[in-house]
Amino acid sequence: MCSMYTQLQSLVQPGTFVGGSWDPIDDSFDVLDPARAQVITSVAAGTPEDIDRAVQAAWEAFPSWRKVSAYERGATLRRIGAMLLDRLEPLAELVSIDSGKPISQARGDVRNSAKHFEFYGGVTDKVGGRELPLDTDHLTYTRWEPRGVTAHITPWNNPISIPCRSIAAALAMGNTVVVKPSEMAPLGVIALARILEESDLPPGAFNVVTGPGSTAGAALAAHPGIRSVTFTGSVETGAEVMKAAAPNITPVSLELGGKAPQLVFDDADVDAALGGCAFGIVRNAGQSCIAGTRIYVHDPIYSMFVERLGELLRSTVIGAGTDDPDMGPLISERQRSRVIAAVESSTGELICGGGIPALDGDLADGFFIEPTLIAEPEHGDPVSTRELFAPVATIEPFSDQDEAIERANDTPFGLSGGLWTRDLSTAHRVANALEVGSVSVNAYPVRYYHGPHGGYKQSGIGREQGMEALAHYVEIKKVGIRL
Ligand code: NAD
Repeated sequence: MCSMYTQLQSLVQPGTFVGGSWDPIDDSFDVLDPARAQVITSVAAGTPEDIDRAVQAAWEAFPSWRKVSAYERGATLRRIGAMLLDRLEPLAELVSIDSGKPISQARGDVRNSAKHFEFYGGVTDKVGGRELPLDTDHLTYTRWEPRGVTAHITPWNNPISIPCRSIAAALAMGNTVVVKPSEMAPLGVIALARILEESDLPPGAFNVVTGPGSTAGAALAAHPGIRSVTFTGSVETGAEVMKAAAPNITPVSLELGGKAPQLVFDDADVDAALGGCAFGIVRNAGQSCIAGTRIYVHDPIYSMFVERLGELLRSTVIGAGTDDPDMGPLISERQRSRVIAAVESSTGELICGGGIPALDGDLADGFFIEPTLIAEPEHGDPVSTRELFAPVATIEPFSDQDEAIERANDTPFGLSGGLWTRDLSTAHRVANALEVGSVSVNAYPVRYYHGPHGGYKQSGIGREQGMEALAHYVEIKKVGIRL
């Protein structure tokens, strides 16, 4: 085993984490380092029976966690945030090796994880019900009550911060948690469980079952014992999760895929727009729900922009995440083959990329791909309509603001969008007209851990992060008293 992997073993545990302890593994699966195509370790292939045990453990912990005072609940969460920051470097290294992302971005993932715990640790004693000013001879008020056991099914691309954003919100409102992390990069959540077992959470308040989506994930989404599902992943799986939850009328929050437009107007700061568009493509190797992969540029600057963006993408430094390049590998060989097939069959003009970069030594078998820019594909070409989850973007000209807005909105997705202009009215008009959950102006992406995140149309249902997420984790009860 590579010495780098041996050092990480102290952070991970192979079993499922249920009721505050690690259970031995019956069956396991290998976790791969996508930069080297080597096995890092093996983890438990959790079963529907493991999910049953985890849900039961979470119900057993629920009475004790819900009765912890709001102040103490918040203090516990804030301490967890501090514990994450204390282990910033080893956690970032783990995330970088497991998911392939550059270590500086992995550090951001861990810092955001801590911020979610700090943020929700700060709201526990500041939110709740209200008095309704009705009749003078009645007292009517609302209460926020925890739902009970909440399920969290998470993707691999931000393997620790995405789980943390919903887990922290659920725990803050007094719920207990069962998490099923992605089988592609489960180590961040396992390391999180190792940290939480040292925290003041009661045993069973937080449970982890690793394993395939089709067994462990499907069993969790369909479990009659859970009171909410928070899912982040692809549109297709999100639809499956919704179907699985439907017979129990379990509420779902779905954070799904995107195909974010970037609109560059001719009065924009071109250097900033080029940098932002390039970063929006190569960040996390394009494996981001908010990757800016549809670029629309105003006619007068279009040719120059295509040429300069191509140059910029060609200069991308590609390598193992731990060496902190501009861009790491894709997550799997399967994913790379899918992307290369889509690029090869595209109807557009290949400006740059499209191939596999030549890397030496132990990176030779990694799942790397070149950043790719395709100009003016035909309407409906999958490179411009499907979420490829790769550093592949299309670029097309537009002639005026209305056309730019129409093209940007011509997609079933609606998660994020960017626009570049120095004109205040253009910025506000276009930001208002984009059918997306987040708009970034003159930087990409502008994201805040305390702001709501979610999508229009097929990009999802509900919002994660910020105060807006809390409604998913509470039942609201109305009490009326005749005085
Ligand atoms: P995915 O849909 O393949 O898997 C997500 C999770 O669902 C994994 O844990 C998987 O094991 C599980 N799963 C698979 N089949 C299941 C089933 N039938 N029932 C229950 N669970 C099942 O997604 P992925 O490849 O891990 O992540 C990439 C996708 O996630 C992209 O589409 C990306 O845009 C999206 N994403 C969205 C956001 C957001 O906030 N909107 C953030 C990150 C990623």
